[in-house]
Amino acid sequence: MRLIVQKLGGTSVANTERLKNVADIVTKTAQAGNQVVVVVSAQGDTTDDLIVKAAELNDRPSKREMDVLLNTGEMISMSLLAMAIQKLGFPVVSLTGWQIGLETNSNYSDARIKRIAGERLKAELDNGRIVIVAGFQGINQMGDVTTLGRGGSDTTAVALAAFLHADLCRIYTDVDGVYDRDPRLHPDAVKYGRISYDDMLLLARGGARVLHDRCVELARREHVVLEVCSAFSDAPGTIVG
Ligand code: ADP
Ligand code: ASP
Ligand code: MG
Repeated sequence: MRLIVQKLGGTSVANTERLKNVADIVTKTAQAGNQVVVVVSAQGDTTDDLIVKAAELNDRPSKREMDVLLNTGEMISMSLLAMAIQKLGFPVVSLTGWQIGLETNSNYSDARIKRIAGERLKAELDNGRIVIVAGFQGINQMGDVTTLGRGGSDTTAVALAAFLHADLCRIYTDVDGVYDRDPRLHPDAVKYGRISYDDMLLLARGGARVLHDRCVELARREHVVLEVCSAFSDAPGTIVG
C-alpha cells in the first residue's frame, strides 16, 4: 500500500464547490488503495481577512495572539473537508497541528518545526482513516499554538511526507505546475516538467510563492520528491527534486 500526502492550498478549498472537488480528489486516491494524508490551508483570503480584523482592534497585537487567531483558518478548512469526505462515505478524521504533535520553536508567526511526535497520526492511518491535517500550525514547548510563516502549509506537507516516509507528496494549487515566471503575470511563462531543488529554491526565495522556500529546503534535506499540480485539471504537473 502506498502512502500519499496531498496538500491543498487556499484557492483549492475556497468554497463549497471546491471542497467537493477536493473531496473527490482525496477519495479517488484512497479508493485506489492508498493511505492518504491531506494537508489543507485556510480558505481563500481567510488569513488576510483575519489579519485585517486584528488590525482593526490593535495595530500591534502580540505575535502569540496573532498565531492563535490565524490557526483558526486552517481549522475551518480541515473540518469542512472532513465533512465533505464523510458525506461520500469514507472514514476520515481531521487533526490540528498540535493533535499530531507538530512541535516548533517559539518564534511566533514564523516558527520552525523541531519534531513531529505523530502517534495519533499514525494510529489513525493504521485504523484505515483518511487523515486531514491543518497546515501551517504547530505547538511550542509551552503548549502555545504557533504558525510556520505565510505559505507554511507547504512546509507542513513536506514535513509529514518525510516523517511518514511517504511515497509521494503532491502539492495541489491553482496553477498546473512551476513556471520560469509567475504564469498569471506572464502569459508566455514556460512550465518545467522537472526542476531541481536548487533551482526551485532560487525561484521560491525570489518570491515565487507557488512553494514556500522552507518547504523546498526541507524537501532537499529529507529527499522528499514533490509534484506541483493543479487542483482543477488533470494536466501533468512539475516534479521538484
Ligand atoms: P496555494 O494557495 O495553493 O498555496 P499560492 O497562491 O501560495 O497557492 O501559490 C500559487 C501561485 O503562485 C499561483 O497562482 C501563481 O500566481 C504564483 N506563482 C508565482 N511564481 C510562480 C511560478 N514561478 N510558477 C508557478 N506559480 C507561480
Ligand atoms: N493560511 C496560511 C497563509 O495564508 C498558510 C498557507 O496558506 O500555506 O499564509
Ligand atoms: Mg501557498
